[in-house]
Amino acid sequence: MARIVMKFGGTSMAGSERIRRVAQIVRSQADAGHEVAVVVSAMAGETDRLVNFCREANPLYDPAEYDVVVASGEQVTSGLLALTLQALGAKARSWLGWQMPIHTDKAYAKARIGNIDAEALIASMQSGEIAVIPGFQGLSDENRITTLGRGGSDTSAVAIAAAVKADRCDIYTDVDGVYTTDPRIVARARKLKAVTYEEMLELASVGAKVLQTRSVGLAMKEGVKVQVLSSFTDENAPNADSIPGTMIVSDEELEKMELENEIVERQLITGIAHDKNEAKLTLTRVPDLPGAVSNIFAPLADAAINVDMIIQNVGRDKGETDVTFTVPQADLVRCTSILENAREKIGFNRLISDTKVAKISVVGVGMKSHAGVASTMFTSLADRKINIQAISTSEIKVSVLIDEDETELAVRVLHTAYGLDAE
Ligand code: ASP
Ligand code: MG
Repeated sequence: MARIVMKFGGTSMAGSERIRRVAQIVRSQADAGHEVAVVVSAMAGETDRLVNFCREANPLYDPAEYDVVVASGEQVTSGLLALTLQALGAKARSWLGWQMPIHTDKAYAKARIGNIDAEALIASMQSGEIAVIPGFQGLSDENRITTLGRGGSDTSAVAIAAAVKADRCDIYTDVDGVYTTDPRIVARARKLKAVTYEEMLELASVGAKVLQTRSVGLAMKEGVKVQVLSSFTDENAPNADSIPGTMIVSDEELEKMELENEIVERQLITGIAHDKNEAKLTLTRVPDLPGAVSNIFAPLADAAINVDMIIQNVGRDKGETDVTFTVPQADLVRCTSILENAREKIGFNRLISDTKVAKISVVGVGMKSHAGVASTMFTSLADRKINIQAISTSEIKVSVLIDEDETELAVRVLHTAYGLDAE
């Protein structure tokens, strides 16, 4: 017997038929003798619809009232799932964010969870009642409803799993796990049995959008074992206890799984991600002097614009140089205007931007102890005449910036080069 937190995303909760399937999955875990809490998202599309209403009501909406509106989608699905479970003969009740409560700060629309009073919840789970909890919502110390930012139900689930010290947090979605790369691009992408928190953070933040990035960070901090798996299965599908999905765990835990032969031997590279939401900026003829680069990046940091890859060319004659970097495409307009305003102070000649770029990243803890990962990447791309515009690396990741049109080709070439193709 274990204590399990299950989370179901919007597509899993979209309509009575889907909710009935979810209720069956939940009940089978309860019938297996587990203590169960379930965290639910709003029905697919519902949060977008509610956000639109807020915009229509007042384009400069007050985030606290926005939270009152958008938190309602999850209230509906939590009540409906409790009702459906009861219809199946299970004991179930809903617990709204303010009832536990799930304390957050007062950054409305993007609140962070503080502590969760889980005592009553644990007692109810121990009594054999299934707890159904709306994701995405919490309570500020001003006693008002908050929400956690889009995709926040994943974070709710992990936070609750940590608070009740769950043995596992199963995140049910419309894909059956985390893949070596996007299966829509590479038909021979393989489902991974397990990845580490670190790898998942890199994969999530570079474009493999399975989980809200913040939820993975929280799972790592709290040591919550997370499984990503599909709710789009039939009654004969393997039980979640047999780990049909992908486990996201610590390095040590993963090694243990390896030893127990639960996973095949690890590869050097775990996955390949792509991200088309970056923009490249180049400032030409920046003075090649101490402080020049700081004049560029300090105002961007003040504006909370996340700069990713940075290249400074070797100075040309006359003590000038070019500086190239990437920012999220969504911040490009703001970024350009900040730099234009600082033109005098920075002292550049031209500002060139390009949104037709893609970042391709190879990720794997295995590269910590192996040389040659980057060179395999560069050689494979060169063989296909794909030009690299910028490079960045971390301990477990190498990223390159290329022409957006070459994204699919690059991902396929690298997937093969690192031996990731399924037989
Ligand atoms: N319903 C919210 C959203 O769409 C939270 C979630 O589903 O994770 O962002
Ligand atoms: Mg989601």
